[in-house]
Formats: sequence, structure tokens, C-alpha cells
Amino acid sequence: MATWYTNLTLIDGTGAAAQERSHVRVDDDGTIGAVESGADTGALGIGGDGADVVDCAGRFLTPGLIDAHSHLGLASDIDATMRLDVSVAETARDIFEACSDALDAGFTTIRDVGGLEGPVPDLIRRGRLRGPRVLTSGPVQCQTGGHGQMGPRFEPTELFDCHQIVGLRTASMLSDGPDEVRRNVRETFRRGADLIKMCVTGGVITVGTNPSDTQFTVPEVRAAVEEAEARGTYVTVHAHNNAGLLAAVEAGVKCIEHGSEVNREVAELLAEKEVALVPTLAPGEILRERSQKVRERGGQGADAYLKQFSVTERLIAGMSEVVPLAREAGVLLGLGADITGPRQRERAMELVLRAKIEDPMAALVSATRDNARICRLEDTIGTVEVGKVADLCFWSESPLDDVEVFTDTAKLALVLQGGRAVAGTDGTTAQTASPWVQPALS
Ligand SMILES: [Zn+2]
Repeated sequence: MATWYTNLTLIDGTGAAAQERSHVRVDDDGTIGAVESGADTGALGIGGDGADVVDCAGRFLTPGLIDAHSHLGLASDIDATMRLDVSVAETARDIFEACSDALDAGFTTIRDVGGLEGPVPDLIRRGRLRGPRVLTSGPVQCQTGGHGQMGPRFEPTELFDCHQIVGLRTASMLSDGPDEVRRNVRETFRRGADLIKMCVTGGVITVGTNPSDTQFTVPEVRAAVEEAEARGTYVTVHAHNNAGLLAAVEAGVKCIEHGSEVNREVAELLAEKEVALVPTLAPGEILRERSQKVRERGGQGADAYLKQFSVTERLIAGMSEVVPLAREAGVLLGLGADITGPRQRERAMELVLRAKIEDPMAALVSATRDNARICRLEDTIGTVEVGKVADLCFWSESPLDDVEVFTDTAKLALVLQGGRAVAGTDGTTAQTASPWVQPALS
């Protein structure tokens, strides 16, 4: 039976102003059948058609949130994981908990860019595991010695594949030369990836790489792009510096993660080539908190840690400057939390950090409508509009008045996923997962 959710304040995810006295009908098939605003239920004849009516007075309705840069597969402590100190059983347990936590935080869709293999999203899709809709890149494509080869520095590279847990979690795969890239990308698709992620610059957390390094050649990236396009999907790249970023754009990638050094000229090029950008602010905030503790404690290793942190601090400062620049140039700007380990249940902090640079509305639109575009699911999810899948969050306070509401699950009254109640304080939490309709990735 269809259900009317009435007397809401509607924040529909398109950027339109909040609308009081709004009413949304969710149909049997889990889609949004009607959206009405500005009149009372009586005047609109709501309730006269036999549909259920749920009075939601005082509630604020937004689309279900989307995280465009997640690592559900890296849900255990990352250092322990790379030391091979975490059993397969514990790895699986932590991944399943992270999937469940995402739903509890109002994230009904996740674009996972490194680690999670296809069978986990498939379990969720079949209703056998509680979690959000997940699109995954599977293992990250890296060059030997590049960002993503996260293991002990003196571990023989030949042994790197022992970090793989095929079918559950593989952080990265190593390739050198276009032929190896092509083979590994094909293997990644075989294991259920929806898109491909590559590292084209160094990173912060991999020992021996530097964010100013470039990685992979244009022909190597192009091999991945060809394979992705042959399957109707695309390549996104981890890129901190502009040299690596520009080479990747030349090779045909369609999305940039981080983009810490993007300037006006590069932003204009991204807009022109319709390449999206996903800034990631939360890891900087987490490092800031951790370094504060290290500074207070002092002792052995503190100096080295703080030196590493200063590099990150510059990158984060860079990303904060990139957001308004890219916005002005007309770049499609997503929102990604990029949190690993157990703290990924706090992924909504990315909206708070973004709102400090822009405002809560801009953060919400990036996390809903624009992230749906980056997932290529804009016809299916991302806004509260007739015909879309009913992935919806009902908040007990306005997240536009106080953006911290997004991080407070006590203020998340109800989460609908495909029209079914799956989380929220209203007590309608489905203990079992609800299967969702797999939309085609266009
Ligand atoms: Zn990441």
C-alpha cells in the first residue's frame, strides 16, 4: 500500500529552498509517487485515496545521503591490517558492521573507491546483509612502489598479493605497463567492480611515496580508461598534484579524488571536459585531532609523526581553497569522507567540514544530487522528486539551521531505503536488510 508522509519541511536536494507543509507519497514499488507543497492535507485530498498517512509534523525530509569516497573494505585498523594482524573473520565482521553503520547514519548509497570486492555489495543487493546501495571500484590500481602499495617497506613486492582476500577485500593491485594495467582492470571487473580507481600521484599514508610524485604514464591510464569505457563505466583517480591530474585527464578519466592543488586554470579545464571532483576533508580533521594528542604526549616518534602531519595539513588547506574555485568554474563537485577504520561511522562529518567552507545547503546538494550524478544514478536517486527511488532521511531538527544535525543519529528519526524503513529513532529499524532494485549504471 502507498504511504503519505505529511506535514514535513522538504529539503529536496536540488538546492531549492526548504518548503514547509510538504507531503510525499511513497508507492508500493518503493518509488516516490507524489510530492506536494504549500497546502494542507485536507485541501489536497490526502488520505481519501486509501493510502496510509503518517503525520511527520516537525520533521525535515532530505534525500538519503551519499558518500562518494568510501573505504568500507578497510574497516579494521589500517596499520594492523597491513601487518596481516587481522584475521579474515575479523575483517569480514568489521566490513559488515561498517555497512550497517552507514545505513544508521543516513547514508543509503556509497561509492566505494578502494578495497571492497563485488560480493559484499551483491549480498546487500540480495537482502542478505544490512547496508547501503554500494557501487565499488574493487582494488585500487597502483604502480609498483606507488601510493596504495601499503605494506612493510622491505616486504618483497612478489609477496604483496598475500594481502588480497579475493571476494571480500583487496586494497590494491600492482601493474607496470599498459598491458598489465589492462589485465588487472579486466580482473577487477571480473570480480564485480562498477568503476575503476587508479592512483596517479603519491599519497600521504603510503611509506616511500610523496604527494608531489606523479605515478603511471598516460598510456597506462588510457588502457584502464579503454577497458572501463568498453563496459559503459569510467575511471576515477587519486590525484594530489596537478601534473598527475592533468596527465590523467588527458588519458580520459572522468573523476578526480582529492585534487588538492587544483587552481583556476585546472578547474576550468575540468569543467570543460566534464570531469568531476570529489574533495575529501575528513581525513585532515581526524589527523589534526590525532596530532594534537601526539603533541601533548610527546616522546619517541612524535617529531616524525608531526612532520608527516605537516604535509597533510598543507594538502587539506589546499582542498579547502579548491572548493570555492571549482564551484565558480562550474565543476561537478561531489562529497567524499575518505575515512578508513572504525571511525567511518562518523562519515557525516564531511558535510559539517564542507559547510564551513560553503554552507549546509551546498554540502547537502553535493552529498545527494551531485554525488548521484558522479555515481551515474541521477535518474534513480539523489533528490526527492516523483519517479525517483524513495531513499529518504527524516530529521527531527533542521540540518540547514545546524549542520551538526547530520552527524547526530539521535536526530535521525527515520531512514527509508527503496521505500522501506531501515533505520532511525522511530523504532521502525528493519533488523534484516531490505533488497533494493539494482539500477543500471548508465
Ligand atoms: Zn581514499
